Amino acid sequence: MKDNLNTPDSEIFYRRLTGPKEKISSLRGIFDICYATSLLIGSVVLFSNLHSLFLYPLACIVIGSLQFHMLNLAHAGLHWHLLPNKKWNDLITAWVLSYPIGTNLHYARHEHFQHHLHFNTEKDPVRVYYENTCFQNRTSLVLYFLKKLLIIDSVGRLISLLRIGHRTSKSETYNYSEFVKMISVQFIILFCFTWYDKASDYFFFWLLPAMTVANFLLAFRSYVEHAKSEPFENTSSTTGLYLIDAPYLEKIWLGSFGFDRHAMHHFYPTIPYYQMHKYEKETLKNPSMTCLYSSRKGYLSFFLKRVLFRRQETIHA
Ligand SMILES: [Zn+2]
Ligand SMILES: [Zn+2]
Repeated sequence: MKDNLNTPDSEIFYRRLTGPKEKISSLRGIFDICYATSLLIGSVVLFSNLHSLFLYPLACIVIGSLQFHMLNLAHAGLHWHLLPNKKWNDLITAWVLSYPIGTNLHYARHEHFQHHLHFNTEKDPVRVYYENTCFQNRTSLVLYFLKKLLIIDSVGRLISLLRIGHRTSKSETYNYSEFVKMISVQFIILFCFTWYDKASDYFFFWLLPAMTVANFLLAFRSYVEHAKSEPFENTSSTTGLYLIDAPYLEKIWLGSFGFDRHAMHHFYPTIPYYQMHKYEKETLKNPSMTCLYSSRKGYLSFFLKRVLFRRQETIHA
């Protein structure tokens, strides 16, 4: 570590995009990009060759999870943590990790940085995912996440991206050009499926998993990593920052590329995910920081307890 850890004297400490610097490793970035991409392509080829109706639900879950995995890695690209050259970092993040999965780079970066800078305030664009008042009771919570499995939710998200590009400043008009680039990449993928076997496979083995499973997992992970403390947790954290100490399989499924250490990422957004362990050790020893976050034992266990133990009555949180 080049810099000493800052001691936070207020909650503002975690609403920032600055901090100590670490070397960005090209080797690690290239390895992770190749690993995530080849896993996804390998699964698509495998399941599209099997063509089994019986295995299709499994195909959808596996492919959607690996597309979500790519989006987790794209988050590192948003922070310029994949490659030391920012131009190359952005090119790869956009064309390999974002456009193929139906999202963009510049608006996603803008929105994500707003999340860091205005975390847990009215200006936080993803507050809806973790604010209890959005889920008046457990039925509304379950319905909210079930809706994420419907294609219509993804379509709505794409349309809202275009609308944001229309009504905001010049710097965000990239949305239109990025939307065209994203659609062009989808045509290239459709062409690849047609060339390899048949066009309909693009819908079943690419588009549908991205618009259902990947969309759902993105919302689900965002919810668990920031959802307000629940009475059954017995925790003192009031910030909405959590480390998810998930079992290994859950960690690689949902918390890949450092997302399970999300509280640390808010403290040190300049540190790449593969260097974060050094900062976590120091943070655990610092009492002025341990009060700023708490831990959860897993994504699924938290969500299940949240649904089972939360009273059905309307909450006025
Ligand atoms: Zn966050
Ligand atoms: Zn981030």
